[in-house]
Amino acid sequence: MAKVLDSKIPAGPVPEKWKEYKAHQRLVNPKNKLKLDVIVVGTGLAGASAAASLGEMGFNVINLCIQDSPRRAHSIAAQGGINAAKCYQNDGDSVYRLFYDTVKGGDYRAREANVYRLAEVSNNIIDQCVAQGVPFAREYGGMLANRSFGGAQVSRTFYAKGQTGQQLLLGAYSSLSCQVNAGKVKLYTRYEMEDVVIVDGRARGIIAKDLCTGKLVRFSANAVVIATGGYGNTYFLSTNAMGCNCTAAVQCYRKGAYFANPSYVQIHPTCIPVHGDKQSKLTLMSESLRNDGRIWVPKKIEDAKALQAGTKQGWEIPEEDRDYYLERRYPAFGNLVPRDVASRAAKERCDKGFGVNNTGLAVFLDFSESINRLGIDVIMQRYGNLFEMYEEITDVFPGDVANEINGVKYYKPMMIYPAIHYTMGGIWVDYELQTSIPGLFAIGECNFSDHGANRLGASALMQGLADGYFVLPYTIQNYLADQAVWPKVSTDLPEFAEAEKAVDAELTRLLNIQGKRSVDSIHKELGHIMWEYVGMGRTAEGLKTGLKKMHELEKEFDTNLFVPGTKEGLNIELDKAIHLRDFFTMGQLVAFDALSRNESCGGHFREEYQTEEGEAKRDDQNYFYVGCWEYKGKGNEPELIKEPLEYEAIKVQTRNYKN
Ligand SMILES: Cc1cc2nc3c(=O)[nH]c(=O)nc-3n(C[C@H](O)[C@H](O)[C@H](O)COP(=O)(O)OP(=O)(O)OC[C@H]3O[C@@H](n4cnc5c(N)ncnc54)[C@H](O)[C@@H]3O)c2cc1C
Repeated sequence: MAKVLDSKIPAGPVPEKWKEYKAHQRLVNPKNKLKLDVIVVGTGLAGASAAASLGEMGFNVINLCIQDSPRRAHSIAAQGGINAAKCYQNDGDSVYRLFYDTVKGGDYRAREANVYRLAEVSNNIIDQCVAQGVPFAREYGGMLANRSFGGAQVSRTFYAKGQTGQQLLLGAYSSLSCQVNAGKVKLYTRYEMEDVVIVDGRARGIIAKDLCTGKLVRFSANAVVIATGGYGNTYFLSTNAMGCNCTAAVQCYRKGAYFANPSYVQIHPTCIPVHGDKQSKLTLMSESLRNDGRIWVPKKIEDAKALQAGTKQGWEIPEEDRDYYLERRYPAFGNLVPRDVASRAAKERCDKGFGVNNTGLAVFLDFSESINRLGIDVIMQRYGNLFEMYEEITDVFPGDVANEINGVKYYKPMMIYPAIHYTMGGIWVDYELQTSIPGLFAIGECNFSDHGANRLGASALMQGLADGYFVLPYTIQNYLADQAVWPKVSTDLPEFAEAEKAVDAELTRLLNIQGKRSVDSIHKELGHIMWEYVGMGRTAEGLKTGLKKMHELEKEFDTNLFVPGTKEGLNIELDKAIHLRDFFTMGQLVAFDALSRNESCGGHFREEYQTEEGEAKRDDQNYFYVGCWEYKGKGNEPELIKEPLEYEAIKVQTRNYKN
């Protein structure tokens, strides 16, 4: 445990070390000894903002991404918005309230101090982005507009229609481009980090694969920052972009970085339901829709059965026969309860047979009341592109009138169901965002830091940009301060050669299996295991079964995988195989953590630990800690190390969204 908490780097006898380095002639160029280089892996909101800020501060930045442009990072998928405690609505918001809502939303499993800092810098993010020209929605009078997201009773979410992530990333990208132009950031697109290189216990570089030529390339620097996103795609079906992977994070974990709270996986309540086994992606319908959309299932089981059989439609069911179950169960927050609560409530209704589509795994999200109240134009202004997206996928337009009963117009409702969306767990970092490997930092979704066991809507963009613009650029300097006399090491060091050799050997191994199964077929099976045994409802028995099945499937992967092509040139199947190898490590880690945490909290719901009303039952006496895992080799159980949580400002209590 002390290992985790003593994570600040001891001052150490730098001059002696420096002499030692000189003696070994490990310098790239002794004349450049004061030049400080930082590798930033990733160009999502976290990576792009960090690279741009570090470049502006004078560091030499090497910035990599797997896409052909930083603008295509997964962050552009973010629809709904970004939180900040500006209190433009004069509705009683404050830094403290944002901090409190986030800690409570995370089911009291976040690190309190980190969350306070996040809330404090939230307002700066909006100012920064406005200055960059991000076209946030505005009120008629010119003020920035806001809407509400789950787990908050104030309106603090800033948005740009349903494209907030894309617009924010364009802002960050323009700052990044400025630094590229100034020569401070060197951008490598279509490069994938395959390994981190540790020299004398510190992160000193990475091995990357040029995805177009297949060549392995060595990069060295004074510090390495990973900003490579979450591990939601372990479940195969998720709302994450297809390219999202956890290879960089898992490789850091294998090299000694602790992985924290992997079982905290977010299942988003409003996604388009699964409609067949040929699907490779799930589509999110933004949480912002819950501002005006009401979630319901029929009150009568015979209505549900008719909906499932297709003999009745949602709009034929009158108001009095609808069960707005979130409004019924949680009157204070209604449809805007946090995601974990809304997802479980949908599952509960569907498990009881009240599902509304042919699979019985869907509930309605209905805009009839708000369209009748506000008019279709207002609703289209707010959610137009989301309605169009829904229509494109399902051929149903939620703004179409479908029925009139007793003078009340009923519109076609959306059908939604929970799906894997976000991962609160990630690489463990200290308050300075440094991992347990000195010189290795993790930011954005790939670290574990701020959301506890459940992330509130619109808080991921806030955290990614807080890390990238306002936290890391300052905290990394505490590490780099003593690096001024500690220059960049040569990529000719044996540590680099060994790491590169190991990556190459792995690529050869995967190509040489020459079995019969495609990467996708195995990944899909892994996804089924994850959803079935490590998904929304978990039990000790189920988790053990899941682990066993994953172990067997991993053997199948190691012996019966077929990857066509060669190492040279573009080989997407080979890249996917590497990702899948790491999803196996990740899936098992999620299950180990879930099995060790004998309580329910946030996105981690152990069915054995629930109240009579089906709410999550925490055990603060025994599990009030961050669960950090240390890698112990393939096939071995990782070791659990605990970082106890300490709350000073907030009283830890049972979450209540009812009153
Ligand atoms: C559909 C959807 C809607 C969302 N809406 C919202 C919202 O409205 N509000 C909100 O707050 N949050 C939202 N989120 C969550 C939010 O979008 C993400 O958490 C956030 O964008 C993550 O940003 P990031 O920079 O950490 O990672 P990402 O955006 O995932 O970027 C990862 C970067 O790392 C690079 N990379 C990955 N692996 C490697 C590797 N091995 N080598 C080199 N580069 C690598 C990628 O190329 C990419 O540049 C949404 C998520 C989804 C899926």
